[in-house]
Amino acid sequence: KNGAQSPHIAILPTPGMGHLIPIAELAKVLATRHGFSVTFITFSESASPAQKAFLDALPTTINSTRLPPVHLTDLPADAAIETLISLAPLRSIPALRSILADLKNTTNLVAFVADLFGGDTFDVARELGVPPYMFFPSNLMLLSLMLHLPELDATTTCEYRDLPAPLELPGCVPIPGAELLHPLQDRSNESYSWMVHHARKYREADGILVNTFADLEPEAAKILTQRQPDLPPIHLVGPLVQTGQPAVENCACLSWLDEQPSGSVLFISFGSGGTLTCEQTTELACGLEMSGQRFLWAIRSPSDSESNASYFTATSKGDPFAYLPEGFLERTKKLGMVVPSWAPQMQVLAHSATGGFLSHCGWNSTLESIMHGVPMICWPLYAEQRMNAVMLSEGTKLAMRPKCREDGVCGREEISRIVKELMEGEQGKKVRGRARDLQAAAVKAIDNHGDGGASCKTLADVADNLKKIN
Ligand code: UDP
Repeated sequence: KNGAQSPHIAILPTPGMGHLIPIAELAKVLATRHGFSVTFITFSESASPAQKAFLDALPTTINSTRLPPVHLTDLPADAAIETLISLAPLRSIPALRSILADLKNTTNLVAFVADLFGGDTFDVARELGVPPYMFFPSNLMLLSLMLHLPELDATTTCEYRDLPAPLELPGCVPIPGAELLHPLQDRSNESYSWMVHHARKYREADGILVNTFADLEPEAAKILTQRQPDLPPIHLVGPLVQTGQPAVENCACLSWLDEQPSGSVLFISFGSGGTLTCEQTTELACGLEMSGQRFLWAIRSPSDSESNASYFTATSKGDPFAYLPEGFLERTKKLGMVVPSWAPQMQVLAHSATGGFLSHCGWNSTLESIMHGVPMICWPLYAEQRMNAVMLSEGTKLAMRPKCREDGVCGREEISRIVKELMEGEQGKKVRGRARDLQAAAVKAIDNHGDGGASCKTLADVADNLKKIN
């Protein structure tokens, strides 16, 4: 049925720009290179202006349809983000069933793809005879942790941060328990149980597509890409990073970069949702000023209660400039530029004036930095960002990590020191060299000329197999 039509894929990105951006890139490659058409099924809960602009700018072979809003009002006001974005898919199952059934009737639907919080929807796809796949918008270290989590949960009696030794995942740099995925830090919180639940669901996929590449995580890649009887095949298809985003309206920061010397500017951004505390915002501002280095800072209003206060909106609450130290903008205007909330990150990282990236280590930001050969300073906030920071600073050696005080705040002297070191110091040279090597490897992995790079070939094989369905 419908076999004459182009193969169609339904994709369910769970709320969050960090989930939508790379899965949209996957959709674009499948559409433009492999002849698929795609329907995105999105959540009303994440219908922010940023998401709308992003979806509107996608090619016409990619449609989108929105699920009706779900009730989340019964949850406590302090429910974790992970709980909210786990419950939204679960409570959307009846609506999802009718959308998928409809697509099955009207298109040549060959697969359903959900991401790391969407495993609960696999059953509906199966019920309708559509093979479910998982898109994993993070790295093999996190995937490996998730695949071990049910066993870890069953065999560990304490909080992971109290484990006597760092956790050794096969082929990964050891991770102290306190640096593990944020929702794993309190085992009595509902968000923890959700993660264990998702981890079990991962095994039910027909395949897991991971946004990483073998040269970035060579040892883990060797282990996880080997077929194992009790696990779905794991395909490395990255780095899939944003391309062809809508023209930037406010490019004052790009014009400013045009006037700066090559490789001289540190870009500072905490992803789509990250926020700092008031105190930390002051320390960062003072540290930047003390360093005397050029900087471009995408700033949000601070939040003292949570580090992901802008997760659903990707915009700042109130005027972020009001929280900067007195006179800061005036004193730094020759060296720095501060933009509210959102910067055109890909263009900034691609700009020749950008020489460093102080980042929250979100996986998309990390891959974007690698694609442009920009070394990093790690400033993890939530989700799996602390694990990424350990991997990037101790394993990959692409990044430097500042030391925080006992109270968790990173002081201005340390910030000034590490910023100077990255931009002008010996260690900065080393991580810069490593960034260039990784950039070359990343570009090679997704090269689609001739024989193509490893990730490109892997995705082509997955696409060929999907086309054989029906
Ligand atoms: N981003 C951007 N401008 C900003 C902040 C973020 O374009 O000011 C984009 C960034 O390029 C990346 C995504 O938003 O593609 C953030 O994803 P990431 O995984 O790094 O972090 P998350 O937002 O999920 O924490």
